Amino acid sequence: MFSNLFENSVLSIELTNFCNCSCVMCTQSQMKGHARGFLSSEIFDKLLKEIVDNDLCFDKLIPFGLGESTLHPEFFDFMEEIFKINRTKRYFKSIDIHTNGINMSDELIKLFAEGGGGLSTLSFSIDAASEQTYFNIRRNRNFNNMIKNIQNVIRKRKNPQDPKIILQFIVMEENREEAPLFLNFWKDFLNQNRLDFQVNYDWNPPMIKDTIFFKRLNPVKHEEISKAEKIHYNVVENLGLIEKKTENSDRAVESREYRGEKRRYPCSGPFKYVMVNWEGEVTVCCIDTLRELSLGNLKNNTLQELWWSKKNHEYRLAHISGDISSMDKCLKCNNLDSPEISKKEIEKYLKKFGFKDYMKYLGDL
Ligand code: SF4
Repeated sequence: MFSNLFENSVLSIELTNFCNCSCVMCTQSQMKGHARGFLSSEIFDKLLKEIVDNDLCFDKLIPFGLGESTLHPEFFDFMEEIFKINRTKRYFKSIDIHTNGINMSDELIKLFAEGGGGLSTLSFSIDAASEQTYFNIRRNRNFNNMIKNIQNVIRKRKNPQDPKIILQFIVMEENREEAPLFLNFWKDFLNQNRLDFQVNYDWNPPMIKDTIFFKRLNPVKHEEISKAEKIHYNVVENLGLIEKKTENSDRAVESREYRGEKRRYPCSGPFKYVMVNWEGEVTVCCIDTLRELSLGNLKNNTLQELWWSKKNHEYRLAHISGDISSMDKCLKCNNLDSPEISKKEIEKYLKKFGFKDYMKYLGDL
């Protein structure tokens, strides 16, 4: 039902909300004194059963939320189970795994390097080119071990680009000076191994091959977004990935600029981004780390009950009408103007659920 109605539907499952470091993302999850923990196997099994029993298909599965998924004691078993069901039928067209690359047993490296089961990309959060910077950001001394693990997976893949490897560097104040070193180190390694790759910097670039990826930091605090955008912009400009501007070269590209004075475009989150957190709560995007837009919990309801609930219809209709005044999280979010949902998809949704009165809002988009 998800991928029948919408393109690029995503199911994201947070296996844990903590990590073995103290990077920005980990600090965010601890910001409001959140409890820490692992997704229970009961919720995991219940979710997978619902998917199989009801033939729920998604374009993408991301078994990841705020924390480091490989720390989950059942990570290997969960992944095996997912690959297994996905071999019988493509419930997930692609599976993207995100990891810091530290806890990788030989068994896990083998599982990833073998490919198959829909595993499409393996994204490594590296964020540094030296042990010292890595330590400053992560507060651990695993830099060399992590590099070795990543290189092992790359070399042991049965087929190049299967899965595709993303070498990620989230640009921040603490590492911005190392961006050129990072680029050269991984360029040299990939060239030595005769691998085809791309260098990318955009918010959500197409991962068509192995990628060295300079990603923008996405701070939880709204007031920090502009600063993060500015640092990112300057770094990618200095790397020569975007054209150098002669005027205003220190300014960030703000997402709102893309649409000028037009009203904000509906966010695709409440339509096609299902986020299940480690406690079983379902929300509508990965940005909602503090669960302000929670739809309820899988302990009490099925995924379909929550996803097609009155509450989520209200979220979608608010985005369609342009009146999101009751959704503070969305009001302050900078992700609204990326048109990842087409007018055609919105129209299909309105017709299917009988909200034809809202068709009038489509004209403004
Ligand atoms: S606008 Fe932002 S906070 Fe709201 S659903 Fe979309 S991504 Fe999430």
